[in-house]
Amino acid sequence: MIDQIIGVDLGATKIATGLVNQKGKVVKKVKIATEAEKGIDKVVENVVFSIEQVAPEKVSKIGLACAGQIDIKKGVIVYSPNLKWKRIPLVRLVSQKIEKELAWEDFKIFIDNDANCFALAEAIYGVARGKKYVVGLTLGTGIGSGIVINKKIYHGQTFASEAGHMIVEPEGRECACGRKGHLEAYASGGAIERKYKELTGRKKIATDIEIEALQNKESEAFQIYQEAGKYLGIGLANIASILDPEIIVLGGGLARSDLLIDKAKVEFEKEIFFRDKATKIIKTKLGDDAGIIGAACIAK
Ligand SMILES: [Zn+2]
Repeated sequence: MIDQIIGVDLGATKIATGLVNQKGKVVKKVKIATEAEKGIDKVVENVVFSIEQVAPEKVSKIGLACAGQIDIKKGVIVYSPNLKWKRIPLVRLVSQKIEKELAWEDFKIFIDNDANCFALAEAIYGVARGKKYVVGLTLGTGIGSGIVINKKIYHGQTFASEAGHMIVEPEGRECACGRKGHLEAYASGGAIERKYKELTGRKKIATDIEIEALQNKESEAFQIYQEAGKYLGIGLANIASILDPEIIVLGGGLARSDLLIDKAKVEFEKEIFFRDKATKIIKTKLGDDAGIIGAACIAK
């Protein structure tokens, strides 16, 4: 089955694995718990188990999409705050497990940051199809980003891109990375939830905070979403000023929020430097399969 690739979207809480055909369609998929708290060996076991569930007999290519800073040449997760991993040679570990458990030979495993994979999936199969200069931004608990030029991920020296950690407010709020004033500390789901707890003393998930915001424009919830949208717009303007992309695709759970995105677009237009051609800001349409498709896209 040379024409099919397995894509593994390895997240902190779940592993989504799918068999992807040449048209970028997920033809079979499975979702299981990551069980990161049980240690790396258990996670590797789960990854291989999920691959076994969707594989026809054997495939020659597997793509792994994982949050964190990844050395793609060495196949090493250098640092993943979500999974609490440092220097994990994931490609080697998964390869060895597949050889042992599934007795496969002659297969290759590719790995990249999940937001990089997302941006590539959008450039090849998604709303950015046919575009040369593409940026993907994933708005979830944190903020990830990927830059794709001519259908190739831009890695810089190793770890590009990390737009979630651009400074939008010097000496501002502390980010999950420990530094201050980063975009992720203002415009991510985690940031919205933390700010809500701080202002109201109540704990709510971002989608519920949005419902409250939509019901009452005088609420703290509304103010929080307005502020998050403002900083997201500033972040988008910074990205556009540096890269001048044709399109910035927004993905992740928080990208579903029109309240956030509409405010961000207004702010973006206000802050953007003079341009010859406009940068489109569009939501993903790949849906829940985006992670799996993105992982498969790097396995070429
Ligand atoms: Zn940060």
